[in-house]
Amino acid sequence: METKKIMELADGYNMPTYGRQKVALTEGKGVWARDPEGKRYLDFGSGIGVNSLGYCDDAWVSAVAKQAACLQHTSNLIYTQPQSELAAKLCGAAGYSRVFFGNSGAEANECAIKLVRKYSFEKYGPGRNKIVTLVNSFHGRTMATLSATGQEVFHNYFFPFPEGFAYAEANNLEDLKAKLDDTVCAVMFEFVQGEGGVVPLERDFVEGMFALCRERDILTVSDEVQTGMGRTGSLLTAPLFGVKPDVVTLAKGLGGGLPIGACLAGEDLGRIMGPGTHGSTFGGNPVVCAGALAVLDRLLAPGFLEGAAEKGNYLRERLSGLPGLEAVTGLGLMLGALPAGRAAKDVAAAALSEGLILLTAKDKLRFLPPLVITKEELDQGLAILQKVLA
Ligand code: PLP
Repeated sequence: METKKIMELADGYNMPTYGRQKVALTEGKGVWARDPEGKRYLDFGSGIGVNSLGYCDDAWVSAVAKQAACLQHTSNLIYTQPQSELAAKLCGAAGYSRVFFGNSGAEANECAIKLVRKYSFEKYGPGRNKIVTLVNSFHGRTMATLSATGQEVFHNYFFPFPEGFAYAEANNLEDLKAKLDDTVCAVMFEFVQGEGGVVPLERDFVEGMFALCRERDILTVSDEVQTGMGRTGSLLTAPLFGVKPDVVTLAKGLGGGLPIGACLAGEDLGRIMGPGTHGSTFGGNPVVCAGALAVLDRLLAPGFLEGAAEKGNYLRERLSGLPGLEAVTGLGLMLGALPAGRAAKDVAAAALSEGLILLTAKDKLRFLPPLVITKEELDQGLAILQKVLA
């Protein structure tokens, strides 16, 4: 089917929730994708941080296809090997004891929200249920995660929103302290605010936040939906800040292109979610878990994460030297840069017509290339960007 027809059908029948580019993709390999007319695109966006191994990685395809051909689904009332293996391997690698699998980042955060509230309810009784999140955060599109999202623009139309969230300014310890009253059970945050414009938290703020939370038995929840799974050059971003959150959520890059979310916690906290308290029909589906295992195996292979970190440093250096870009922010292969005097959306649109897929976040260009990208491929993309900026 040609691009025009694909667009016609989508625009005719999908709810118009997305501001889409006028491009359809039909196939891809590595960091390259192709549209129906054969035009090639170099992908610096990974489907918003999802295709961590790029398009159709051989080992990932083989794991997914093999599992699809032998057992595609059963209920979560029955065990499957891929889910069991993934739970053990992910907990082991991330340094947690228990995991719940859902289908998305928002679902992983929903699990975390329920978990911290149940912990507090059981220990302190009702009333201590508020979750403090940070201004400019993004935690998802379900009703609770929209409430958790610290941006007024998301708190519209769909009233009433779930209660029990308050917002503190990022990197402002005094404001956070003022918000941490005795009704608060948890803080939830991103180490690098992705949708908010690729804005990292300051290390002092993170250390101060963890100290305050420890003093008051307030749980820390790191939303690593975007920052996790090697994106920042480390399996999780928390160790880069020298902290260990009580609860961590993952999604995006975990499945390498199939829908999965994970909420991880230590042994005692992880046991809070007893039978009947939470669940998902599709969560931890064996095909998806087989794909996630292939992703995790690759990330844990010797040198892989170090390589991602090094490529991140390389990309950061190159972006910092590009005329027309300023203020490069982020960590690893999660970077943002402000185009000088031009709207990021216009630059991304121009890059797309030159065959480079770029994302934006707020007023910045956002770079989330597949973790398997090579320096040569980074250079190829940067050459297109340079041309567009000129
Ligand atoms: N949390 C963060 C930090 C995100 O960046 C996103 C998506 O961009 C989400 C949660 C929501 O994830 P999903 O779209 O998979 O529900």
